[in-house]
Amino acid sequence: MQHLAVAIIGSGPAGLTAAIYTSRARLQTTLFAGQEIGGQLMYTGEVENFPGFPEGKSGPLLMMDLQKQAQRFGTTIEFATVSKVDFSARPFKLWVQSAPDQEADYQAETVIISTGASSIMLGVPGEKEYLGRGVSTCAVCDAAFYKDKSVYVIGGGDSAMEDTMALSKFAKQVTVVHRRDTFKASKIMQERVLKHPGIKVLWNSQLKQVEGDGQRVTGLVLEVGGQEQQVAADGVFLAIGHKPASGLFTQQLAIDAAGYIELASHPTYSTQTSVAGVFAAGDVTDHRYRQAIVSAGMGCKAALDAEHFLAEQE
Ligand code: NDP
Repeated sequence: MQHLAVAIIGSGPAGLTAAIYTSRARLQTTLFAGQEIGGQLMYTGEVENFPGFPEGKSGPLLMMDLQKQAQRFGTTIEFATVSKVDFSARPFKLWVQSAPDQEADYQAETVIISTGASSIMLGVPGEKEYLGRGVSTCAVCDAAFYKDKSVYVIGGGDSAMEDTMALSKFAKQVTVVHRRDTFKASKIMQERVLKHPGIKVLWNSQLKQVEGDGQRVTGLVLEVGGQEQQVAADGVFLAIGHKPASGLFTQQLAIDAAGYIELASHPTYSTQTSVAGVFAAGDVTDHRYRQAIVSAGMGCKAALDAEHFLAEQE
């Protein structure tokens, strides 16, 4: 069993920033990245609001740079998923390759959880069936496949606005379907969408069903102002929010009703969870801000908390 000072679970801005800090503090750090490094920013084309990049920066490039920066100071990155944890006593135990009933693969004096959040689905008929075949949760990844096509975006938040703008560069027609008569997105992003001549908005509307020919999406059933209508569509992009990736920890940590890891309001360690020595940072615990820069800042705090916690134990 490998012994670590710090195990970081999750490889978005929170986890990688934490890794930079703990590695620079000369704490032996392994970051479990999952199958793919980078979290949600891997699906973000241009990040315009991360300080230090006046011209903006591509999300994937930003994450690659953070990865290199962490590795430069000695972080080990494992492209593997943690399948089980045991936080009942320190050192904490983590399973990666071993079966849950076998001995753990790692033990860690502290753990920083930065597993982020994932896209929420609507649960309407056809949505699952056509996921990846016309139903998408990532316009930045898939927009280019919709050149000269007709697509719909569901949602009224910043993600929906961002997806709509990304799609407008390719699609012939982009229609936003929103369940209210106002958007909740930031004003600047709303304005871009509302002023765009090629974008239509259906207010007080909902997606009821995704239809297809067995291969791909061909149409949607919408409810527009209380009336059901069928429309032809080549694609539909869901942008209705995210859910925290906290499932691994439900038996181990206090988790709130929406699934976010609760922080303990510790007088010294602001990122401490309900278990001393286990810290959380980023979207898995933050339902309010959900910004890369906030996640990075929380990752820094979690790393400093872990460092001070370890010093206190000596
Ligand atoms: P949000 O939770 O902000 O918005 C979700 C949207 O989806 C809301 O308009 C909501 O409607 C709608 N919605 C939710 N559930 C349903 C449903 N069942 N049926 C129909 N519509 C539904 O999520 P986002 O992903 O947009 O944003 C999350 C956070 O990330 C925010 O803080 C946002 O500011 C930030 N962000 C920032 C970006 C940037 O600055 N570049 C880009 C993307 C996100 P209603 O309005 O009725 O609640």
